[in-house]
Amino acid sequence: MGIDHDIPSRAAGAVHRRALMVRRTSTRRLEKRMTSPSPTPSEASHAGEGTFEDLPLHSKLRKGIQEIGYRVPTPIQRGTIPHAVLGRDIIGTAQTGTGKTAAFLLPVLERLLEEPRGRTHALILTPTRELALQAEGFLRKLAGHTHLRGAAVYGGVGMADQERALRGGAEIIVATPGRLLDHMSRGYVNFQGLKILVLDEADRMLDMGFLPDVRRILQRLPKVRQTMLFSATMPPEIVALSREFLRDPKMVQVEERTVAAVGVTHLALPVPSHLKTDLLYELLKDEMMSSVLVFARTKHRADNLARQLGQRGINVAVIHGNRSQSQRVRALEGFRTGEYRVLVATDIAARGVDVKDVSHVVNFDVPHEPEIYIHRVGRTARAQQRGDAYTLVMPEEEQDLARIERLIGMKIDRARIPSFRYDAPRTELPGRGPPRSQGRFQRRPYRNQDSRRRRG
Ligand code: AMP
Repeated sequence: MGIDHDIPSRAAGAVHRRALMVRRTSTRRLEKRMTSPSPTPSEASHAGEGTFEDLPLHSKLRKGIQEIGYRVPTPIQRGTIPHAVLGRDIIGTAQTGTGKTAAFLLPVLERLLEEPRGRTHALILTPTRELALQAEGFLRKLAGHTHLRGAAVYGGVGMADQERALRGGAEIIVATPGRLLDHMSRGYVNFQGLKILVLDEADRMLDMGFLPDVRRILQRLPKVRQTMLFSATMPPEIVALSREFLRDPKMVQVEERTVAAVGVTHLALPVPSHLKTDLLYELLKDEMMSSVLVFARTKHRADNLARQLGQRGINVAVIHGNRSQSQRVRALEGFRTGEYRVLVATDIAARGVDVKDVSHVVNFDVPHEPEIYIHRVGRTARAQQRGDAYTLVMPEEEQDLARIERLIGMKIDRARIPSFRYDAPRTELPGRGPPRSQGRFQRRPYRNQDSRRRRG
């Protein structure tokens, strides 16, 4: 077994962490600096001091901010909000993970506080359904104390609900371009009262071939409006687009560091697929892992995992789309109060999880969409405290992990628990782990899975 239980838990935790023999696989660690855009004198009082109190936002929005758990504005938020609330066009160079969504949602909400219901005042265009849903989810929380409503419009689902939201004049529409054009071609979309347009992840829209659709939409919007464009990079096509459609934009630039990289220790733990549960169980022997949110890819995997952990004596609850509302509430409440040490969740279900003191996020499965990684690990180290994010990686997930590393701009350290039997055979008996080596952690040379990665 991995931990010598005679040592007090704190020390055991330390030993455990030390024994996670971290091996740097990075040959280059991208230099990351959190640079905040230098404030102009007029904005200094807002941007320089670093709390949401200093930003020109209504108390109704501050309540939402508090409830969502943000304590300190990120650089993109400090740089954008003071200008955007005045109606200025914005070009924000920032990637997912920097807090850019709230950087545009908050000024959108602030500017619409006096506007009547029942008319669409703001449109946010985003490249993927996931981003649309994510933005709409944040919007719902941040707008919780206002009269403003958002609706997400994206492909792959029925049109009827979206049509109702568009006809009913949801005040803020978050949409992917193709599906929005479908609706626009049917004649019931009314953007005459539109005051604000946001283009989110413009470079990704370009990569995905959406720029012609975006142009088509832009041509049908009122000319007098505020436009905010966010993009991680500025390829020539996006520069051209912004020249054409933005007026005297304020440039706000933040360098690569993401929210995911602030205060979070990231570790990847390579493991064969059949030993994932055993490795997680081994990790959970560290009592410092006091409040652990575990992400599984599917409802079925979440259920299985929770059952197996439960059989091994871990206090665990599970939430996913098939659980009833009351089951979810009970699970969340139990996790919050510490009754359950581990909460196993799928991504969709985890949207509602807002627990301040998540000590660890464990990715039992590597997410296919790299942004999801950021949203998952954003649940630990909230409000820029410390937190750990462990990712169990089987060889076929290495490519997904590489995409995550590219997105967050850093290589994630690989680690292994030397006492764990990585070569244990598949075990058929539920609840019984593979045989383990005895005694304390042994340091063994670490051979990672790199040699097997990226065959394609
Ligand atoms: P985004 O870059 O907008 O995709 O945000 C990445 C993650 O950071 C999300 O989980 C946000 O909820 C979170 N986030 C955004 N702003 C803040 C903040 N000021 N403090 C803490 N977390 C934040």
